[in-house]
Amino acid sequence: MSPKKIRKERIVVKVGTSTITNDKGDIDIHQIDLLCRTLAGIENLGYDLVLVSSGAIAVGANKMRLKQKPKDLRLKQAAASVGQCELMHLYDKLFGEYGRLVGQILLDNDDVENSGRRENLQNTFEALLENHIIPIVNENDSVSHAEIESDQKLFSDNDMLSAIVAVFCGACKLIILSDIDGLYDKNPSTNKDAKLISRVENISDDIYSLAEGSGSNRGTGGMITKLQAAQLATSHGIDVLITNGSNTDSLYDIINKKHVGTLFVAKENP
Ligand code: GLU
Repeated sequence: MSPKKIRKERIVVKVGTSTITNDKGDIDIHQIDLLCRTLAGIENLGYDLVLVSSGAIAVGANKMRLKQKPKDLRLKQAAASVGQCELMHLYDKLFGEYGRLVGQILLDNDDVENSGRRENLQNTFEALLENHIIPIVNENDSVSHAEIESDQKLFSDNDMLSAIVAVFCGACKLIILSDIDGLYDKNPSTNKDAKLISRVENISDDIYSLAEGSGSNRGTGGMITKLQAAQLATSHGIDVLITNGSNTDSLYDIINKKHVGTLFVAKENP
């Protein structure tokens, strides 16, 4: 992957399924509205944003009234196709309310690995960002099955996809919004004394051993995939922050360089 020159005003924000849906699997409209409002506000401060959004399969399954998240590939792809429409409809409407235009980009492995397609993709990102349009990115789940099925995944889930997109766009920061506050020294759901690690300079084996890889019921990613994404992005000179998506105001704190979540520090000479 060819790294681009880092642009200080470019930020990629990744939002997971568990942040934008509720326990029943319905879209959490209040949460998405807060997210769109906050991101529009940050764009008004002069930043260019890219949003990588999961949620298509969960939202589609819910809309199709499936009793649980589908396990069968065909049904997952059908759900992704229904849910992606619903998500984009909402993003278009809500960002529109705040005076912002959005464009949809759906990717699969070939778009990243094939140099011709990669160049087209980078040009599209560039054209959207130059025109202050927010690209909203997801894996092209209804035709690809890399993320939702394969063991040999390049994207592994949207965490890795968000890191790849951050490199493509020459972003200076990748913010991964999750249902957890960041990386802890122990599993916080089973250890009351678990402490949040505020800064990681080097994603070593010891750091990996702190992550237990558990995901929520609605998303696919756990902390391991976030660390892999952080490793890729930081090695390309991009700071990565993992923080809780339930507090969208923390995005302003991050912009204002206040301490939030866990910061994985970019390598200086990528
Ligand atoms: N691309 C999947 C979706 O949009 C990601 C699933 C997930 O990681 O939660 O449903």
